[in-house]
Amino acid sequence: MAHLHDPANAGPANPDPACPGCAAPDLAFAPHDHDHCAADALARAEALVAERGARMTPVRRRVLEILLEAHRALGAYDVLNRLAAEGFGNQPPVAYRALDFLEEQGFAHRIQRLNAFTACMHPGEAHAPAFLICRSCNAVAEAPAAPVLAALDRAATGSGFAVERASIEALGLCPGCQRGGAGGSA
Ligand SMILES: [Zn+2]
Ligand SMILES: [Zn+2]
Ligand SMILES: [Zn+2]
Repeated sequence: MAHLHDPANAGPANPDPACPGCAAPDLAFAPHDHDHCAADALARAEALVAERGARMTPVRRRVLEILLEAHRALGAYDVLNRLAAEGFGNQPPVAYRALDFLEEQGFAHRIQRLNAFTACMHPGEAHAPAFLICRSCNAVAEAPAAPVLAALDRAATGSGFAVERASIEALGLCPGCQRGGAGGSA
């Protein structure tokens, strides 16, 4: 899937080949310039919010920044604790509303297995991701799910079942944790 570097200058013909994050947006587990990767996702989310006439309030932006710090899933209470420590207040609805907004806008995904949230690494692109979740460090990567969904559809049709929605979450170990390191990349 094309990953567009500059939101102001975006187009499938215009990826930034010098950016490891841009060249391989699905490889959250691979070593890459994560500062660039996070700044890029934030910039694209900001551009989309402006385009849609929605509002990126300080708390919404801060929650997205927190989710973008690493390719990991965070629970709503982890986010709330961070917000409270930074003076945004300690009312759970503050965190929940910001997370709902980010999910509605397609800037964050809910990981059902972990009851947690992760930043979307391709905001604004239509995609049905499958999630690869490290059970040791909670690192999460997105992989294209279309082939898996098509196979599921065929299997369901064989049973006379019409699939309306499916979420694909695979649990395992990221490369860093397989090596016995402290965690995944970034
Ligand atoms: Zn990254
Ligand atoms: Zn995504
Ligand atoms: Zn891991």
